[in-house]
Amino acid sequence: MTPDMDEKKERLQLTGREQQTLYGISGSPGIVVGKILVLSHQREQYGRYTLDTDRVEAEVERFRAAVTRTEEELTGLRRQCEEDLADTLSIIDSHILMVRDRMILDRTITLIREQQINAEWALSKALGLIKKKFDTIADSYIRDRFADIKYVVDRLSGQLSGRRQELLSEAAGPVILVSDDFSPEDTLRMQSKEVLGFLTEKGGVTSHTAIVARSLGVPAVLGLENITRICTTGDTVILDGFSGRVYLSPSPDQQRQYLEYDRQHRAFSDELAWYIHLSSETVDGLRVRLSANIERLTELQTVHQYGAEGIGLFRSEFDYFHQDRIPDEDTLYATYRDLLAGIAPAPVTIRTLDVGGDKFAAYLRKSGLDPDLERNPALGLRSIRFSLRESNLFITQLRAMLRASCFGRLRILLPMISSLSELQRVRSMLNAIMEDLHQEEIAFNPAVEVGIMIEVPSAVVMADTLAAEVDFFSIGTNDLIQYSLAIDRGNEYVAHMYEPLHPAVLRMISQAVDAAHQQGIEVALCGEMAGDVVTAPVLLGLGIDELSMRPSAIPHVKRLLRHSCFRQLRDLGEKVLKCGDGGEVRNLLTSYLPEYYPVEFAER
Ligand code: PEP
Ligand code: MG
Repeated sequence: MTPDMDEKKERLQLTGREQQTLYGISGSPGIVVGKILVLSHQREQYGRYTLDTDRVEAEVERFRAAVTRTEEELTGLRRQCEEDLADTLSIIDSHILMVRDRMILDRTITLIREQQINAEWALSKALGLIKKKFDTIADSYIRDRFADIKYVVDRLSGQLSGRRQELLSEAAGPVILVSDDFSPEDTLRMQSKEVLGFLTEKGGVTSHTAIVARSLGVPAVLGLENITRICTTGDTVILDGFSGRVYLSPSPDQQRQYLEYDRQHRAFSDELAWYIHLSSETVDGLRVRLSANIERLTELQTVHQYGAEGIGLFRSEFDYFHQDRIPDEDTLYATYRDLLAGIAPAPVTIRTLDVGGDKFAAYLRKSGLDPDLERNPALGLRSIRFSLRESNLFITQLRAMLRASCFGRLRILLPMISSLSELQRVRSMLNAIMEDLHQEEIAFNPAVEVGIMIEVPSAVVMADTLAAEVDFFSIGTNDLIQYSLAIDRGNEYVAHMYEPLHPAVLRMISQAVDAAHQQGIEVALCGEMAGDVVTAPVLLGLGIDELSMRPSAIPHVKRLLRHSCFRQLRDLGEKVLKCGDGGEVRNLLTSYLPEYYPVEFAER
């Protein structure tokens, strides 16, 4: 249980490197004991400071050196870029020119000299002044160029004050990484490193940092206020990803005790391996498809390893994050083809690009997507809205998917649909692409299945209408909870209110399931609730046909399924819909859990 925020704050205000317990949010299960490496975001690292007169010119030189390094960095990026990407090349060229633009360069140097302030502060002040000027420009095209200036300034400021990226790539494990937050780009960079765990200040259970940590199988605790200031690189900690606790400078006895918990947990995981090859059905014969959520083609191996019956969610946006530009059609096609062929004949659900909110790649700023400039990114240019606006980018992805559709059973999944007209726009784009492919004599499956994610309340309300137009639903509870309860899924301050078992959420799920079944289509659920043994029984009781989760959770949920009786689950489903709040639902569930999962649910 997470204590309330005041209590948490009070505890975190304790200072010193004495033994100390920090309380956060359990982001990814598992226990590790190890040394930490603190990485701070550059933005957090600098404040304003006044320079002695004799230090001013040295500061100007430091700034000029950062300008040169930024130029070199961008030129290096240009070199990596293929020559046929003319648009990208011209954007990089314009950024290279901008680094030495007088607006940025001269203004920053003048501020350093006149106000005797540090370069980081002068640079951000210069940016503020430029922004004011741009805000008054009537021509929206020119006004939008501010995003490019900001991009260049961010790179400059990174060169000035941060060693974050270098530290990340140098982080020769085994270490527990500590930061205010990790972006999906960061986590991808870390994939090859020996990282024992993550501790962050920001984030909630369904933030993408948590999702990626779980899919990497790395324990994580999030929402630890001030952790980057409380801890120092080299400190030893115990990270308990089950309870969301972190023990700073633990005693040898405490370390031994936690290593023993870890051993028990591993033994239990070994026992779960028995379930991998068994069918996923209840004792009274109800079959439920348990499929995998993955982010990269490289995870194909784990899909087989844990006995998934297909891919229920391929988060295609992650292929857009590990490089500095938009992947081209052939690259995407090759990925989708290998994915489909690797899983055939089981289905592969590929979700179209879902960027925005907390999923972002720096180069997307060029397409007008910049969470720093949006007043409310979660309600802004996200997901299908971005794809429909950037139609060339979207068409490239849809063409790649259709071309791959002959290699297995493809299901195209559209994220964040909030109205029928959005769906119809995508449908007509798909029809036009099919027509083009036909003309070009390129093979594809014209009967490819198309489904939508149910993750905003308007889609639930319109579920009967939408169900008539698609082949399947996939409920994205991570967002459905965020949008229906008005809780930012990545915000640690309201994380304690993020309640998957809120009866409002459960009634929405039930409504979507009923609407889909009336139209004779299936409903999958691919939010984090699907892989959580606390919430999975409720979902089964509400009639979900497929649960899609991180592959390593599949044996866990299958064990639960194989010990359950559908009649009882359905009774449970009916009861939860009558509950007044999430607490009441949780009470109903207590009888299922400690008996089956002694290590996870044991009191500590
Ligand atoms: C969801 O919203 O539940 C979902 C599966 O999508 P994502 O977590 O990628 O937003
Ligand atoms: Mg979502």
